[in-house]
Amino acid sequence: MKVLVINCGSSSLKYQLIDSDSEEVLAKGLCERIGIDGRLVYQKAGLDKEITDAPMPTHKQAIQMVLDALVNEKTGAIRELSEIDAVGHRIVHGGEKFAASTLLNEEVLAAVEECNDLAPLHNPANLIGIRACQELMPEVPMVGVFDTAFHQTMPQVAYMYGLPYEYYDKYKVRRYGFHGTSHSFVSKQAAKLVGKPYEELKIIVCHLGNGASVCAVDHGRSVDTSMGLTPLEGLIMGTRSGDVDPSILEFLSRKENMSLSEVMDVLNKKSGVAGISGVSSDFRDLEAAAKEGNEKAELAQEAFVYRVVKYIGAYAAVMNGVDVIAFTAGVGENNDWIRAKILANFEYLGIHLDEEANAKAKGVEQVISTPDSKVICLAVPTNEELAICKETVALV
Ligand code: ADP
Repeated sequence: MKVLVINCGSSSLKYQLIDSDSEEVLAKGLCERIGIDGRLVYQKAGLDKEITDAPMPTHKQAIQMVLDALVNEKTGAIRELSEIDAVGHRIVHGGEKFAASTLLNEEVLAAVEECNDLAPLHNPANLIGIRACQELMPEVPMVGVFDTAFHQTMPQVAYMYGLPYEYYDKYKVRRYGFHGTSHSFVSKQAAKLVGKPYEELKIIVCHLGNGASVCAVDHGRSVDTSMGLTPLEGLIMGTRSGDVDPSILEFLSRKENMSLSEVMDVLNKKSGVAGISGVSSDFRDLEAAAKEGNEKAELAQEAFVYRVVKYIGAYAAVMNGVDVIAFTAGVGENNDWIRAKILANFEYLGIHLDEEANAKAKGVEQVISTPDSKVICLAVPTNEELAICKETVALV
C-alpha cells in the first residue's frame, strides 16, 4: 500500500509518501509559512530537494501543492492520485477518548475537536489538515494516530496530579504524555534488537530531541512518562523548561510584570538548554560553545543530563527494575557524549558502557553496553512516519 503521512502544524506541514510493503519513502518534504507567503520543499527518493516559493494562503492549497508535486510528470513519485491508498494523520492530543489509532469519520473528528482545549496550539491545526485532505481526496480512507494514545495504559496513580479531584472530573486535568508513537515504536524495536518478547521486558525509552521525554514501558505497556497535561513537563528541553516549581509562574509574573501567557511563553520558548546557555537550543551548538570554554553551555548540557538521570532512576524504581534502556531522537541517536554521561550514573544498576560501540552509534541501531552489563543499553533511531504508516495500514 502507498500511504501519505501528514503532520500538520499551524503554519507548516510535513509529509511522506511511504510504500508500506517495502517501507521505502517514495517522496517527502514540507510546506512552510502557510498563510504567510508559502514554500514547498519536495524530494523524490534518490533525487535532490526541490524548493518552490509559491503562495499558500490555506492548508488546503498547501496540500494541493503537495499532491501536484507527487504526480508531477517529471519528478512525481506516482502517476495518479488514485495510487494513494490511505492517509495517516498525526494528531497530538487524543485526551482520554483515544487509546489507539482510529479511522477518521465525522463522529471521531467531533471527539478530536473536544480535545482542542487540551492542546490549543496543535489539535486545531491537525484538524485543519485532516479536513483539507478529506476535501481533496474524499474517497481515500484516513486514519488518526495520536501522540497520547500509547500512554493511556498508565495507571491512575501515575497520571493523577496532587490537585483537587474535581479538576480531573470537570476538565480531565491529568498526565497524558506525548511522543507516544515514538516510545511505542522504539520500545518494540528495542525488544526485537535484544531478541526477547516485548511483553516480558522492562524498558525505559529516552526520546531526546528538541522536545524530550522519558517513558517507562513495563511488559509492553506505558506505565509512566515525563510529559504531562501538555508537552511542557518533565525533562529540560531545547527551549522548554520541563519541571519547575509552579510558584515560579506567579513569582516571575510579579517581578517581571508579565501576564500569565507571557510567562508561559518564556517557559515554552525561551527556557530549556537555550535559556540556561543563552547560546542555542541545538546540542551541536552547545557542544561547540562548551569546547570554547562557554561555562553556561556546559552547564546547560550537564543540567539536561542530570534531569534525564533522575527520570531513569525514578522509572527503574517504578518498574522495580529495568532490562533495557533505549536512546532515540536527534540527541539520543547521535550524541554519544550525552549518552555516556547519563549512563555513567548507573553503575549501581550494573550498567557498563561499551565506549567504542557508543562512539560509533550515530543514527543507527546499536547495542552500546558491554555483554556483561546487567541492563542492555541501545541507540535506536525513531521513525514516527513509518510508525504512523504501519498503524494506518493496520486499520485500513
Ligand atoms: P525534534 O524534536 O525537533 O524532532 P530532533 O529529534 O531532530 O528534534 O533533535 C534535535 C536535536 O538533535 C538537536 O539538539 C541537534 O543538535 C541534535 N542532533 C540532530 N542530529 C544530530 C547529529 N547528527 N549529531 C549530533 N546531534 C544531532
